[in-house]
This record gives sequence, structure tokens and C-alpha cells, in this order.
Amino acid sequence: MPKDFLAGLQPEYDVVVIGSGLAGMTSANILGRAGHRVLLLEQHYKLGGLATWFKRPGGHTFDISLHGFPFGMLKSCKRYWNDAIASNIVQLKNIRFDNPMFSLTTTYNREDFTALLESHFGIPKQTTSEFFDTARSMNFYDDQSMTTRELFHKFFPGREDIVRLLMEPITYANGSTLEDPAITYGIVFSNFMAKGVFIYEGGTDDLVSKMQAEMTQNRVDVRIKCDVSKILVENGKVQGVEVNGRTIRCRAVVSNSNLRSTILDLVGHKHFDPKFLQDAQAVRLNNSSTQVYMAVKPDVEIPESTGDLLFCSTADAFRTDLLLNRNITSRTFSFYYPKTRPDSKQRHAIVSSTNANWNDWADLDETAYQDSKKDLIENTLDALEKYVPNCREKIEWTEASTPRTFNHYTKHLSGASFGTKFEGLAVSRALPQQIQGLYHAGSVGIIMSGWLGAINYGVIVSNEVDQMLSKSSPITPPANTSPTASNPNS
Ligand SMILES: Cc1cc2nc3c(=O)[nH]c(=O)nc-3n(C[C@H](O)[C@H](O)[C@H](O)COP(=O)(O)OP(=O)(O)OC[C@H]3O[C@@H](n4cnc5c(N)ncnc54)[C@H](O)[C@@H]3O)c2cc1C
Repeated sequence: MPKDFLAGLQPEYDVVVIGSGLAGMTSANILGRAGHRVLLLEQHYKLGGLATWFKRPGGHTFDISLHGFPFGMLKSCKRYWNDAIASNIVQLKNIRFDNPMFSLTTTYNREDFTALLESHFGIPKQTTSEFFDTARSMNFYDDQSMTTRELFHKFFPGREDIVRLLMEPITYANGSTLEDPAITYGIVFSNFMAKGVFIYEGGTDDLVSKMQAEMTQNRVDVRIKCDVSKILVENGKVQGVEVNGRTIRCRAVVSNSNLRSTILDLVGHKHFDPKFLQDAQAVRLNNSSTQVYMAVKPDVEIPESTGDLLFCSTADAFRTDLLLNRNITSRTFSFYYPKTRPDSKQRHAIVSSTNANWNDWADLDETAYQDSKKDLIENTLDALEKYVPNCREKIEWTEASTPRTFNHYTKHLSGASFGTKFEGLAVSRALPQQIQGLYHAGSVGIIMSGWLGAINYGVIVSNEVDQMLSKSSPITPPANTSPTASNPNS
């Protein structure tokens, strides 16, 4: 008999959370902690969503999305998870850039950038200071017609090299482009500049297992391999969900599934008013990614001076279309030294990430798909050779993922790495006005995506669900995380 992943379920719950991405787990944890009866349903066989990992022979573990997040993670984890999680957040000190315009290493914070912009790029401290202050003071009331390109032009006209320095990591960090509203850049960039780039020591597997333990302690009923097929709505109110052929009743649903799937597939057109539906259909998905995972032989040492994060490119200029092009010229290499997992086998791993378009991969037949993955791996090794000489001799395992991989494991439409574009935020926020008890928490709008953005959005939404359910005093939201505040991710 197949295992019943819903065995022992309660007859009803206050809240069903659909999806165990960082936003979904954070919502579930906070609501469980507040005393609500919470059921978390995840379609995959493990928790974490895009915050995930996989193991390969030889003691190798690869992280998928553990490349860097802002310092604000520490505060959010401490407050909404626990001290054990927060205390594993550590800084990456060697952020490298190498491209035809410049090569440099930085700690990637305001102080270091101010010095670099003066010494390498000849920009007076005063100009840099004004740029930083402008980026940091941006808020949702600002005129959103100003693009990131225009922001750069205002402070550094004609300086393609500076645009590259300032923009390339953010494009990798959340897929934003020069054409997106400047606010999406300003907020994310300022978050990183506050203190630099951080990761979770112990690896994603350790983080997710600690989060699972915390949710269990807070009596969240966590179920894997539970694919929600429908959110049930009657008379404009959430009634429950359909999952694995069963109906589960609840008063509220927090969907951590992709925003468009939530509205258009899980709920369905007929429950929304036409204008809202039109806005939802107009929400653009973010782009996707390819990655190459490389495991270094146990007896090989990669010097830490190679860098923690390396933004490398052979393209003469920084252009969004070049970053997304199948003919890859730009990659981010993440180097994982044994210190990443101090309690595991002492292993080095390297992961290369590149932004990618779904359409370049979606329709390849199996042979063409496998061939394209092989090409991706070979081209990546060619590029890595400059930084890790004789890398082919030092690496014992290679493997690639594509937009199809991300779509397969998380059900994100088009394998979107960062949910939707900016316009998704307003649609996500408006859901409870359309259907009582229906909420969405998950990657939308660049700002509310990435590890920190997803966690903080989970906090904001759980606060609203808590108020709706109990009309009791709200859970304290993270500092500056209201989407109407100036900096949701600080
Ligand atoms: C290659 C790559 C690298 C990245 N690197 C970084 C980085 O370095 N730093 C950073 O901050 N961010 C990074 N990100 C982004 C970051 O991982 C995500 O923004 C964040 O983890 C998304 O969290 P989320 O809560 O939106 O949910 P997701 O992670 O998108 O999870 C959604 C969950 O919902 C589940 N689900 C969907 N539909 C259903 C259903 N019908 N029933 C049940 N379950 C369902 C899915 O299986 C999934 O588990 C990266 C992303 C990618 C793809």
C-alpha cells in the first residue's frame, strides 16, 4: 500500500500553509508559535523550496541558493526563528570581480565601496556618499517611473564600468535589470552595503533541519509529498484545500506557491473580480537560472584567496541580455571551503550560477537537453580554469541544473528563481481583499524575494493572518518590513 502522507490529520486547521519555502515555513512557525492550529503542506519530499541542497557520493553536499544574503537575516532569524539559527550566520569577506573592465576584491560594504570608487574609479567621496544616501532613502512612495539605469546616470553619467560594479551582483542576487524601477535596486543594494554579504555556516541542510525542529516545537503539523490541487472558496471566503484527493477545512490559507499559480490555478478565475484578474495576468515572472555543481577531490585544497563569491565575465560591457543569453559570458562562482560545513567531511565545492531564460530550455528534446547540459558543464570548466588551474584534474563530480530543474522541484512557473517582477507585490498584497482568508507569502517583486525577503514577507503575512484569526494583539513585525516602509529587508 502506498504511504498515506496525510495520516493522522486533524479534522480542521486554523491555517493551511501551501509550500515550505522560507516564506511558507516562517509564516507557519510564527502562526504555530502564536497558538494557531497550522498545517504545512509541501509537494516535494523535502522542505525548503529553493533553499535546498543535495548530496552526492564521496561526502559531497551542494547548496542551491546559499550564495549570499544581507546582514538583516541575522536579526530576522533571531526574532522569528531562534538563536541557534541566527548564530550560524557569518560574513563572506572575499567578494571578487573579474571582467574586461576591472578586477578587484572587496568586502562589499559601504566603507570599502567608497574607498574603491575613489581609488579605482576616480569618484569623489562626496558623490559616492550622495549616491548611497539616495539609494538608502528610497521608499515605496517614490516615483517608480525612475529606472535603475536613470539612477546610475544621475550619479555616474557615462560610467559603464561603475554601472557594472554596482549592478552585476544585484542582478545575480535577484534577477533585477537596469530597466526595473530604481527602488528595487536601491533597497536591495543598501541592504547588502549595510554590512556586506553573509551566508549560513552549516549549510542549507542544517538550516532547514533546525527550522523543521522549531516548527515541530511550535506544534506545526508538517507534511511532505502533499501536492495541493485546489484552494476551496465559497461566497468570497476560504473554506479549505484539496490535497492528495482529500479535502481539509481551514479558516485561512497562506500560499507560498508561485503567485500566478496561486491565483490562476489553485483558486481559479471565477472567484476574482475582472480588474484584479487582469492585473494578476499582467504580472511578469522573473527569469530563471542555470547552475553547475562541481565537487573537488578530497585531497585537493583550493586556497581561500580564490574568493568566496566571484563575479566573472568575458563580456566587454554589462548588459542584461548578455547575462541571460544562452552563450554565457558571465557567471558567478561560489566557492565553498570546508568551513562552510565545519562538522561534516572536509570538502570543497564550487557552484557556478548564471541567469537564464525558460524559453531557451523548455522545448529541447531529451537528447538536445542532455547535450546542452554537457555543453554548459564544459563551458563552465573552461571559464573556471582561469581561477582554479587544472580544474578538470581537481574535480571529481560535475552536474548541471536548468530552468526545467527549478520548475520540476518547486513548481515555479518557467522555473522563476525569484518569483515575479515588482508588479507582483501589489497583487499579492491585494489577495485578502478579493477572498477573505486568502494570503500569499513568497517571492514577489524583487524586494520580497531572496532568503531575507522571503522570510520577512512570511513575517508580514503571518501578522495579518494572526490578526484576522484572533483579532488579538499583532505579532511584532520585523523592523522596517512593512511594504510601505522604506526598507523592507534591512
Ligand atoms: C539558483 C538560485 C540561486 C539563488 N541564490 C540566492 C542567494 O544566494 N541568496 C538569496 O537570498 N536568494 C537566492 N535565491 C532565491 C531564494 O532561494 C528564493 O527567493 C527563496 O528561497 C524563495 O523562498 P519562497 O518562500 O518564495 O519559496 P520557494 O523557495 O519558491 O518555495 C515554494 C515552495 O512551495 C512548494 N509548492 C508549490 N506549489 C505547491 C503546491 N501546489 N502544493 C504544495 N507545495 C507547493 C514548492 O515545492 C516549494 O517548496 C536563489 C534562487 C535560485 C533559483
